[in-house]
Amino acid sequence: MYIIFIMHRRKFIRTTLLASATMISLNEFATSAKALKGESERMPLLFVGHGSPMNAIEENIFSKKWAEIGKELPKPKAILCVSAHWMTKGTFVNVLAKPETIHDFYGFPPELYAANYPAPGSPDFAQQTIELSNNEVKPTHDWGLDHGCWSVLLPMFPKADIPVYQLSLDLAEPPSYHYNLAKQLRVLRERGVMVIGSGNIVHNLGMMQWNDKAYDWATEFDLWSKERIEAGDHQALIDYDKKGRIAKLAIPTNEHYLPLLYTLALQEKGEDLTFFNEQTLMGSISMRSIIIS
Ligand code: ZN
Repeated sequence: MYIIFIMHRRKFIRTTLLASATMISLNEFATSAKALKGESERMPLLFVGHGSPMNAIEENIFSKKWAEIGKELPKPKAILCVSAHWMTKGTFVNVLAKPETIHDFYGFPPELYAANYPAPGSPDFAQQTIELSNNEVKPTHDWGLDHGCWSVLLPMFPKADIPVYQLSLDLAEPPSYHYNLAKQLRVLRERGVMVIGSGNIVHNLGMMQWNDKAYDWATEFDLWSKERIEAGDHQALIDYDKKGRIAKLAIPTNEHYLPLLYTLALQEKGEDLTFFNEQTLMGSISMRSIIIS
């Protein structure tokens, strides 16, 4: 992506200038040397509208875009997925060295059940996540990688050589809880973790129809969210239920919306923000996705 390239170039120039300064301290030199090796680079941040699990194995406009983005992104030390499909009482991270690919869907073709994403886990970064949350987040061995995570990563990072772990969603907690919890994890990006929220901003399966003409309320909510994201008005997005009827239709249950709040909470001031896959599918599923760097 053009924007990512610009960011790298800017960082590179800044680092080069630092290294050539005559009064550079040892600490600064170490920092710039690390930056040159990519070690202290803040990882980009994504929210991905994942839609159908079939996107994992189908070549379509969405999966092609994921593949394209994967080629442009810097390689993180680990990926933390916040997926709509892991809901728990309390908040957990999986601490497995080898997380299983979970086929958490029904009625799809055998090829999809045969698909696997054999990425290693990251018990180390999972532990750091627990510590950063002051033990609000608990460890578990009872979850691998669900399709909200691997259906996106398979096209995006097909080599499956980057360690991946997941953070669950406690739906008993209000949206502000999720936003504030994510804020505690900000330093992970500096440590080389790419955080990917995976859900759908508008997600009403009960209202799906067999054409892609978006309902008026779906378009209205999707565009409202776009405007608020661009304005950096996270509070409005946390208080989405104040939008009344259109919010109730767009977000009948909020598990697909909450991953967006994790992504936004980790956005730093002045970062570039780009939307991609802005289509609405089957009337009531917004694929709107975001990259922040
Ligand atoms: Zn989903």
